[in-house]
Amino acid sequence: DLLVVGSANADLVVRVERRPGAGETVLGSDLAVHPGGKGANQAVAAARLGARTALLARVGDDAHGRLLLQAQRAAGVAVDGVLTGGAPTGVALITVDPSGDNSIVVSPGANALLTPGDIRSAARLVRAARVVSAQLEIPLATVVETVRVLGGAGRFVLNPSPAGPLPAEVLTACDPLVVNEHEARVLLGDGAGPDPAGWARSLLALGPRSVVVTLGAAGALTADGRTGVVERVAAPRVSAVDTTGAGDAFTAALAWRLGRGEEPAAAARYAARVGAAAVTRPGAQEAYPVPAQLPPPA
Ligand code: ADP
Repeated sequence: DLLVVGSANADLVVRVERRPGAGETVLGSDLAVHPGGKGANQAVAAARLGARTALLARVGDDAHGRLLLQAQRAAGVAVDGVLTGGAPTGVALITVDPSGDNSIVVSPGANALLTPGDIRSAARLVRAARVVSAQLEIPLATVVETVRVLGGAGRFVLNPSPAGPLPAEVLTACDPLVVNEHEARVLLGDGAGPDPAGWARSLLALGPRSVVVTLGAAGALTADGRTGVVERVAAPRVSAVDTTGAGDAFTAALAWRLGRGEEPAAAARYAARVGAAAVTRPGAQEAYPVPAQLPPPA
């Protein structure tokens, strides 16, 4: 029902007392390797909720690629669409200091080799989905081709992260465009006012059919392009331990429920429960809930 087109990365995490300056070496903790990348995260999040989910991505022919595939299979994601080879699996090199601040270097690796041609080759998979969810950790041309191949056969959901300019062809296909505060500010530039409801309306003016703005512990806003109506969705109150990957879990849950025909505000209320559950445990994919672990609605 849900096809995720996106990135798969191995997150390599070392805790350090302080980060090294140029030419300097510091010692850190033991290495922790976690499956990550926005596409892989979304697919695992949806599958754990019970969605029939497939992933279209590219990994390297290496240990990180196998780790990522293993995590997808364990969650129940169909991985026939995961291509292998051409470059090493994407990695995020992450150092975490005692205050919890991250420094991250991303090596896109195989993600950068997921091409428009790969999307055309997977056209049957793309057109069979009720909903296709994409992000921007793969080439923009590949996202454009996804929109073209989909051709309105299914719904298209985009989280434009990392945030950057989007062609009109992609923007007008989004239903919804899902952004956090940072992504909203980048897309709106100086035109972003102080108020999130205003952002939602300004984002609608860029052409998407609908918009969802996520606001962390403050929940989310949904905005409908036809009616202009903006609705606020509260987040369940939980004690947050690690917000990594909360947005990916939220977006995956939202896309799946929208694909099933749920109303946007109802789908966002469900997604907010999923995002809230994801912040109560450390990590991204490891923290994603099964339905029994969801908090009650706010
Ligand atoms: P991102 O992870 O992309 O920065 P947000 O921080 O907005 O995105 O989180 C996405 C969604 O996850 C929010 O809309 C909310 O529903 C949920 N969420 C995030 N942080 C919390 C929190 N501290 N408490 C409850 N829900 C949260």
